[in-house]
Amino acid sequence: MLQGKTALVTGSTSGIGLGIAKSLAKQGANIVLNGFGDVEGPKAEIATLGVKVAYHGADMSKAHEIEAMMKFAADTFGRVDILVNNAGIQHVAKIEDFPVERWDAIIAINLTSAFHATRLALPAMKAANWGRIINVASTHGLVGSAEKSAYVASKHGVVGLTKVTALENATTGVTCNAICPGWVLTPLVQKQVDAKAAAMGLSNEEAKKVLLLEKEPSMQFTTPEELGELAVFFCSAAGNNVRGVAWNMDGGWTAQ
Ligand code: NAD
Repeated sequence: MLQGKTALVTGSTSGIGLGIAKSLAKQGANIVLNGFGDVEGPKAEIATLGVKVAYHGADMSKAHEIEAMMKFAADTFGRVDILVNNAGIQHVAKIEDFPVERWDAIIAINLTSAFHATRLALPAMKAANWGRIINVASTHGLVGSAEKSAYVASKHGVVGLTKVTALENATTGVTCNAICPGWVLTPLVQKQVDAKAAAMGLSNEEAKKVLLLEKEPSMQFTTPEELGELAVFFCSAAGNNVRGVAWNMDGGWTAQ
């Protein structure tokens, strides 16, 4: 379905980003990976799916590195047809204790990077009259949780950016939508499981249950593969007129 198209997924060396990159690759899209940590493993995983894969290590908190990444993608594959703004970080603390440097980093990586990548991707998408911008927000783009001020503010911002991007391009073939996952068991969430286990004297399995019980009625983690299939739907012809939605995949979290 996506043969000949190129997808750039930020923060795709791990977790949800890697899951979405694999789902898009399975549909034939060439992939530009981005993120920190192990690069060769994710590159090899994508390459086995029979598509071309490239990597750029831009730090998503830095506008000039995002500019270099977008140029690299265009130079390597001709154009970015699908942009998935996924890179994100978390920090948990009460507002009065929240480290100012963590606030700035979360807003830069979770929100401002999506603005930069979007503004740089749009001209070529509009020229081709086809494009998909998929912003990985969160249930925290729709509702709040204590001790996550920067994250919740950034994700509400991402949902707002999604709506405006969708509206500004509503008469074109470029759509923009957000995905709002509940708990997904990635390194980002494992850190929160570990913190809960340590604070409450629980095992890893018990801490996971407590985490789910607090928020997610299904008592199940959403998987990167499930989120990848939602991204594939947004890229399909059936998604042509799906514009500006914030689609939750959260086991009932936001239905409460
Ligand atoms: P993760 O920690 O597994 O992956 C984060 C990715 O972002 C990694 O590839 C990492 O290298 C990259 N990254 C971090 N800082 C970066 C930077 N400055 N520049 C470039 N890349 C950077 O986390 P995840 O859970 O897969 O999270 C992915 C996205 O999904 C985030 O936006 C997160 O907020 C969102 N999300 C996660 C959950 C969850 O439960 N895990 C729920 C809702 C939303």
